[in-house]
Amino acid sequence: MATATLTIDLDALINNWRALDAQTEVTTAAVVKADGYGLGADRVARALMRAGVTRFFVAAAEEGASLRQAIGPDPEINIFGGHMRGDTDMISDMNLTPMLNSVDQIVRHVEALPAHPFGVQLDTGMNRLGLEASEWDAVKALVLQRGPTLIMSHLACADEPEHPMNPRQLAAFKEMTDGLDVPRSLAATGGILLGDDYHFDLTRPGVGLYGGMPFVDATPVASLRLPVIQVRDVAEGESVGYGNAWIAERDSKVATLAAGYADGILRAMSGKVATFAGEDRCPLIGRISMDLIGIDVTDLSDIPREVELLGQHQSVDTLADAAGTIGYEILTSMGQRYQRRYKFS
Ligand SMILES: *Cc1c(COP(=O)(O)O)cnc(C)c1O
Repeated sequence: MATATLTIDLDALINNWRALDAQTEVTTAAVVKADGYGLGADRVARALMRAGVTRFFVAAAEEGASLRQAIGPDPEINIFGGHMRGDTDMISDMNLTPMLNSVDQIVRHVEALPAHPFGVQLDTGMNRLGLEASEWDAVKALVLQRGPTLIMSHLACADEPEHPMNPRQLAAFKEMTDGLDVPRSLAATGGILLGDDYHFDLTRPGVGLYGGMPFVDATPVASLRLPVIQVRDVAEGESVGYGNAWIAERDSKVATLAAGYADGILRAMSGKVATFAGEDRCPLIGRISMDLIGIDVTDLSDIPREVELLGQHQSVDTLADAAGTIGYEILTSMGQRYQRRYKFS
């Protein structure tokens, strides 16, 4: 059986990194957690290195260790999750830089690896990771003595430029870090677009690199083509798929595609998006099954061998809206069964 093909355009990825980099005067890193937002951290990171990226961020030490093997000894690999119990050897052997996010982690790190580089995460209101102002005050002197590579915090509402949380977090971050002689980072993709005040010394874009909102000018990076397994005639009044969720309102031609919710085509999109055969729109009909999807091809003169679900006609964010979620979840749900093709010049 022909499998669905996920094409990842590494030139588009590099364009997006360059476009985000051009928005600031400061260093632009790249976030490649969750296997490069589902698109393959190793390939993504190696492509970004060729474009000049030298600093990467991942969520967990395991991701960092695997990335280290793919990209070699030189680039800096930062770990958002910090220094967790049991990670010491990996952090040391693979030369990972944990972003320490609690007093416990700071103690663990300086006791286990006193000479090993680290950064610090501060909480400026998101209440997810990082030291609060009072904790920071208590350990600041000790931490600064040991020369952290970076002090960072994360914005909760950066995808909404007018949200009052943005200036509030900015003020809190400045309050905690102004005057310290350490590089600072506050902005992910959304923060870059908020303007200079948010840029500090280093930005950490993720989703914008991969073609997702809030970077509206992003070039699409992922495209997904699904093969047609079978085509059938369905008479007016007949149904298609589980629960008889779609009933033909006219004599129809229905194609069955070889992919489903087990491949990350979220079932909540059922009936809400289309596929494309060239420029022709073929709506999804009935419920998305685990491995199969029905589309209406009645109006096509030729039945294609495959159709496009994601690409120039339909973005990750269009799919996300249809499923009631965000582009990040569409990307990181991309199926392991897809044949992956990397395109680059
Ligand atoms: C995921 C993440 C990023 C990247 O965010 P995007 O919105 O994808 O650009 C940056 N910083 C932290 C702390 C993150 O968790």
